[in-house]
Amino acid sequence: MKVYNYMEDIVSDELEKLLGSAGDICKCQKCRLDMAAWALNRLPPQYIVTEKGRVFTKLNEQNIQFQVDILREVTKAILNISRNPKH
Ligand SMILES: [Zn+2]
Repeated sequence: MKVYNYMEDIVSDELEKLLGSAGDICKCQKCRLDMAAWALNRLPPQYIVTEKGRVFTKLNEQNIQFQVDILREVTKAILNISRNPKH
C-alpha cells in the first residue's frame, strides 16, 4: 500500500479537457507537466491510500466549490505557462 496524491489525477484530467478546447498555445509534454505542477502547487493535496493501484477512498469530487477551485487554478496554470513556456 502507498499514499498517493489523488489531486494529480484530477488536475491532469481537467488539464486535458481544457487543453482540448484551448487555442493556439504550446501543448507539448513539457508545458503540460509545467501546467500540472503549477496548479498542484496551488491546490490542497488529496492524499489517499492505494493498494495495487486501486483507489479505496473516493474524494469530494461532487463538491461544486472543489471543482470550481480546480478549474480556476488549472485555467490560470494554462495562461501562465503558455505565456512563458520554459523552452
Ligand atoms: Zn511546450
